[in-house]
Amino acid sequence: MTRVVIVGGGISGLSLAYRLEQRSPRFEVQVLEKAPRLGGKVGTIASGGFHVETGPNGFLASKTSTLDLCADLGLADQLVRADAEASKNRYLFDEHGLRRLPAGPLDFLRSDLLSWRGKLDIARAWLRGAKRGHGDESIADFARRRIGPEATRVLVDAIVTGIHAGDPELLSAASCFPRFVDMERVHGSVLRGLLAGKPKMAGATPKRTGLWSLRNGLGTLIEALASRLRSRPVVGVGVAGLTRDRDGWTVHGEDQGRLPADVVVLACPAHEQAAIVAELDVALAERLRSIAYNRIAVVGLGYRRADVPMDAAGFGYIAPQRLRRDILGVLWCSSIYPGRAPEGAVLLRIMAGGWQRPEVAGWDDDRLLAAVGAELRLAMGITAAPIFQHVIRWSRAIPQYHLGHAAKVAWIQERAGRHPGLLMAGNAFHGVALNDCTEQATILAEKIEASAALRESGARANAS
Ligand SMILES: Cc1cc2nc3c(=O)[nH]c(=O)nc-3n(C[C@H](O)[C@H](O)[C@H](O)COP(=O)(O)OP(=O)(O)OC[C@H]3O[C@@H](n4cnc5c(N)ncnc54)[C@H](O)[C@@H]3O)c2cc1C
Repeated sequence: MTRVVIVGGGISGLSLAYRLEQRSPRFEVQVLEKAPRLGGKVGTIASGGFHVETGPNGFLASKTSTLDLCADLGLADQLVRADAEASKNRYLFDEHGLRRLPAGPLDFLRSDLLSWRGKLDIARAWLRGAKRGHGDESIADFARRRIGPEATRVLVDAIVTGIHAGDPELLSAASCFPRFVDMERVHGSVLRGLLAGKPKMAGATPKRTGLWSLRNGLGTLIEALASRLRSRPVVGVGVAGLTRDRDGWTVHGEDQGRLPADVVVLACPAHEQAAIVAELDVALAERLRSIAYNRIAVVGLGYRRADVPMDAAGFGYIAPQRLRRDILGVLWCSSIYPGRAPEGAVLLRIMAGGWQRPEVAGWDDDRLLAAVGAELRLAMGITAAPIFQHVIRWSRAIPQYHLGHAAKVAWIQERAGRHPGLLMAGNAFHGVALNDCTEQATILAEKIEASAALRESGARANAS
């Protein structure tokens, strides 16, 4: 048997445990989770007919790793796709109020989001040559070079607000949007890459399209994973450190408990990984600690439908970070997926904080709810009190892949390789989307199995 201890019971840790057990009975896997509940950022609060996600709202079908995981867990009949009409109706709340984002090229030409000069700048991206040199480039620099300053200020800031809640001047284009950087490299331009279609891009032939979730929310995925593991994950056990001797690893719990292991996978956030390896390898801990995170507060608000003056029949809106508003955006959850609010009610999910306004995520409930209420009044005309509310705060929400991230990750992996049987996982390295976490889990499970097989054949050769 190969004893594997996985530190962290978020989607990364749980899907890795599941994939390992699926690959081979040789693995004895134990997941240790510090919090009283499994799932990390993923979870669903169900109350009074409302279903509020604590973190992710869904996963795209552009990569199939999470769809495949759901199918393997027998959840295929519970998959729900985001409403196609709602997905087309996305808004921006800026100096001009609530404005619909264009859903296609014609829509874009007609829209007043950009001036003609800004639109022409985007069209010229077709003609611009690819970047020379190999240095890392920020999302803002990449976008300014490709589509011009206006589209970068208006559109790219909004996209980065919606996905990373980070600063486009600091985030690495290659680490945050590898597909676009690849398109420029392969086709000379992102536009040409998009038009050339998907077949040329590795792994980009989706079985399906759109955004997906599960009928009762993504918490179902966590419950299904936990119930399928041979050894039930242990919650309420924080790992404090690691030591290694001839017999392998010893995992030390914050409660003084100890657990032996052949392989240890740290699937907790990078700053927690840093604390765990602090005594084992100071330099490794320092690099891990240098991966920055933003702070986000998630506010779920339920209203009587009659109390929402506008028809919230879309996906929601983004309040770009450059405007430094008190919120980052609002998802109109009950329009996106069925069953998120009881009959006659709507559910909104508001994101606040982010890289530019971290203090907002730390405001107490009264101040935060008052600020959110004022924003909703301004953008959507809502003046009534909610009939349901729930606040979730993430003090380290989404890792920020700042310039130099890829080089840092390569260094961390090389350095961790000096400690045989110690591996890093989680969303701090190769992508922050759920799909990235579930895809990395499959890749890591293959890697762990290959090295276990190698060790066993070595041991057999020594014995004979
Ligand atoms: C507000 C928000 C919205 C998002 N929206 C989307 C979205 O719509 N679509 C999408 O694809 N992605 C989205 N994401 C990103 C996605 O949810 C995360 O990247 C993903 O869930 C991270 O999973 P993880 O397992 O790597 O880390 P985590 O979920 O952080 O799990 C790590 C686990 O490790 C545990 N842990 C920490 N320290 C220790 C320790 N010392 N010992 C033991 N356990 C420990 C933690 O308690 C936690 O449970 C969103 C994230 C946030 C915060």
